[in-house]
Amino acid sequence: MYDFEFERAAAEVKRRGVKRVLVQAPDGLKQFLQEFISRLSEICEVYVSVSPCYGGCDLEDERAARIGAEMVLHIGHKKFVGGAEKVHTVYLPAPHLANIDELANLAAHEMKERGFKKVGVIANTQHAIYVGDFVSALGTAGVAPVVDGETGGLVLGCRTDAAKRIEGEVDAFLFIGGGEFHPLGVAIDVEKEVFVADPYRNEVRSTDAARRRVLAQRWWAIMEAAKSRRIGVVVVTKPGQFNLHSAEKIAWGLRAAGKEAYMLAGDEIGMERLSAFPFIESFIITGCPRIATDSTQDPQRPVLNEAEGWKLLEFIKLGQGQRV
Ligand code: SF4
Repeated sequence: MYDFEFERAAAEVKRRGVKRVLVQAPDGLKQFLQEFISRLSEICEVYVSVSPCYGGCDLEDERAARIGAEMVLHIGHKKFVGGAEKVHTVYLPAPHLANIDELANLAAHEMKERGFKKVGVIANTQHAIYVGDFVSALGTAGVAPVVDGETGGLVLGCRTDAAKRIEGEVDAFLFIGGGEFHPLGVAIDVEKEVFVADPYRNEVRSTDAARRRVLAQRWWAIMEAAKSRRIGVVVVTKPGQFNLHSAEKIAWGLRAAGKEAYMLAGDEIGMERLSAFPFIESFIITGCPRIATDSTQDPQRPVLNEAEGWKLLEFIKLGQGQRV
């Protein structure tokens, strides 16, 4: 179960005298919202966004303004986009309420048995509240825990500073949370092994095999893209993913290297959207870096993220004997 902080949301609605709100949440959390919506409906009019919501980058403030909502309740993430939203937005991170003690002890003993002396503790938004429990469990097991002071160990799919800043101090990382999305993002960005302490499965596992698979696949994607003549550069118009300047610079670099660059723009970008352009041989998505790395790639038409787009340019120029 998740804590949607109803009392905080309701207090903010009342304090501002809000008559209509728009609630947005990731698809995985929408199924748990019925009680929250029912209770909220007793104090104001509630609209719920049916759109997907992948992160704090994915704001519904413009849509809220269009339907006359005076407040957005953004569930599942913390504030990501700098500056003020177009409609007042309250972030409700929705921590996952779990009994974590057994898992923390299991993870601590696993780290100990593997001979790690110092372990970095990281977590996603739903599980950052448990970093302290894992720090205690590791300490009790005789393993020194390390947590990045600036972030409290919080990582996002595209922000892994909490791990990178302490990488030199630790032997391995312990990520608290489920799935592969966040721990794999860290595992790609650091050289140390990342373990997942998963409260949904109550198990501890390594990301090493998945990391090797993804890195090999990314290398393949860059090599294949280098063979393309026609490359699509995609600008994502979501508020926290909008990166027009970089997209234009990459396109300029591609053209200077003799490629045909096509500028594409859109909100919801996925492989099925890109498949509508069969004349384009590969794509560089300058929005969320994980669209490229986490989607099933078309073996004929590789998709890169922005960082890989820059690597591609270097690679092309090196192949042409140019200075980079
Ligand atoms: S850009 Fe991608 S990884 Fe980063 S917060 Fe948004 S959806 Fe998550």
